[in-house]
Amino acid sequence: MSQNVPPLVIGIDLGTTNSVVAVAQDGTLTVIPVNGQSSMPSAVGIDPTGKLVVGQAAKNQAISAPENTVLSIKRIMGTDATAELGGKSYRPEEISALILGELKRAAEEHLGRPVTQAVITVPAFFNERQRLATQDAGSLAGLEVLRIINEPTAAALAYGAGQADTAEDETLLVYDLGGGTFDVSVVRVENGIVEVRASHGDIHLGGDDFDEALTALGEERLREKHADALPAAAQRRLKSAMELAKIRLSDEPFATIREEYLTPSGHLETEISRHDYEQLIEPWLVKTLDCVQRTISDAGITAHEIDKIMLVGGVTRTPIVQELLLRTLGMEPRHEINPDLVVAMGAAIQGATLAGQPAPAILVDISAHTYSVLAVVGGDFMGDLLGCCPVVRRGTPLPVTKADLFTTGVDSQKKVAVKVFQGESDDPSQNLSIGEFMVTGLSKVPAGNEIIVQFHIDLNGLLTATATEKRTGLAKSVTIDTAGQHRINLDAARTNLAALFEEQDAAFPDEDDDFQDADIIPWPSGETTAASASEVEAPANSAALLASAKSLRNRAGKLLEQGVAEADAAAIRASLAAVPVAIDARDWDQLCTTLDTLSDLLFYLED
Ligand code: ADP
Ligand code: MG
Repeated sequence: MSQNVPPLVIGIDLGTTNSVVAVAQDGTLTVIPVNGQSSMPSAVGIDPTGKLVVGQAAKNQAISAPENTVLSIKRIMGTDATAELGGKSYRPEEISALILGELKRAAEEHLGRPVTQAVITVPAFFNERQRLATQDAGSLAGLEVLRIINEPTAAALAYGAGQADTAEDETLLVYDLGGGTFDVSVVRVENGIVEVRASHGDIHLGGDDFDEALTALGEERLREKHADALPAAAQRRLKSAMELAKIRLSDEPFATIREEYLTPSGHLETEISRHDYEQLIEPWLVKTLDCVQRTISDAGITAHEIDKIMLVGGVTRTPIVQELLLRTLGMEPRHEINPDLVVAMGAAIQGATLAGQPAPAILVDISAHTYSVLAVVGGDFMGDLLGCCPVVRRGTPLPVTKADLFTTGVDSQKKVAVKVFQGESDDPSQNLSIGEFMVTGLSKVPAGNEIIVQFHIDLNGLLTATATEKRTGLAKSVTIDTAGQHRINLDAARTNLAALFEEQDAAFPDEDDDFQDADIIPWPSGETTAASASEVEAPANSAALLASAKSLRNRAGKLLEQGVAEADAAAIRASLAAVPVAIDARDWDQLCTTLDTLSDLLFYLED
């Protein structure tokens, strides 16, 4: 290899359902897209023309041609079992090699150079034979596997464990709920060494089970209208629709499933609520919590000794999963790094270390606070719960759109107050109230009228809250600058200073204040006050802006009286003339710009 090409070791999460490849270069971590997606289904197939297909194309054809498609090969890794594909048998290493080869190809295409070395992750419970099989799959794909590391270890690395500048020892719990398997591990970080202390799991528990439970529910609903049994192909189609519904239910309180001609006469159009879905999957979730307890006790610790809980696996985006962990362990699980990608990122970090590259930091934009809605029984409020109900939790990656269901508390409730809070408590008095609005004209129906509240937070911290009456679609929304909540001190300081100047002006009138030459110092004619301006949606700092406009006008007047060079005087007059125009037009941005210019001018001209 030529000297100026630095060594490069890719990180691969070879998952049961999805696989991900990432790389760290010059301290920057990249998840490499495969066919435009950050993860690739771990699927291999032979298409109708006899062509080998890997990834999304193979997953797509699994519905119509299951006999020519292999899924979840990881389940039989390290066994003598084989998979059938296009009439031939293949060892799990061989199928896995096809998946790894596709990831290698995507990495080479993305990086524009050959890739020959990799770190591959495996579940902590994998035995020696399963690890060797994974390594062999790598060799078959043309990859030298420098290290096989545990998935929970990789997740811990991605969260910064064991890096020199985070020298503190810590105990982590990694909860990984993927498509086909669940596992939980206690990871100990000591003197920079990351080690799995205990791990338990269930290789037949995951999102697939939930998709199947939803499919059964869909079939049941279909049978209410159409008696015919569902053929296998239609069942697979329904399952794939249900997987999408399940994913939507992580962010929305309802999902509608529309599948035409599932049977020759049967269309399915049905709605599933998050609540129904959560009840459906509860038995599995309880099982995972038992596993958590067992792992904690096997690690010889108590729940109190856990410093951090980290979420891994697509299904951990389900709100109830996060909530149950919070309730059981009394600690908010961390989910700021994408749970589908975090393992591959950790593998890439390990790869960078082995390649002698600097350890990359993972930077993500996250919501620094929890944003909730107040629900109170009675009055104009929403009534199903008391206190602040989180819609977007602290640590959620931005941008985010999440919605939750609330209901009215009294019969014939005509309006509902939506109060938005920032803060971690369920007690509103402990949180910061950042906005509220009223939805009026609700239908005259008994208590329990469904109101969907959606929060969208963008990368700039602008929160758009929308409340929608589900039965009619009647909606209202407001936008709140959550970042502004922290900058409030700046506004307060401006107002404060402006008040001080006014006091000074009042106390020492002869020194500066009497300047009232209406000809050269214009001022809007109408009675413009902060209060009247606020009716046309003035910003929170409009009062401060007006006060500072007045104070600048006084200073400018004084300077003009003292006499300045003609060019400077002209510049001052031009700025002064623009002030009332902006105020009259309620153009607060323009006013701000004008005042800044004026203030700069005065700063240079005053002694
Ligand atoms: P694995 O580690 O088994 O390869 P992943 O971690 O990729 O699996 O998880 C895949 C599972 O996560 C699938 O069942 C998929 O439907 C589910 N999933 C993906 N995104 C979401 C989401 N937003 N909410 C709920 N489940 C999701
Ligand atoms: Mg996984």
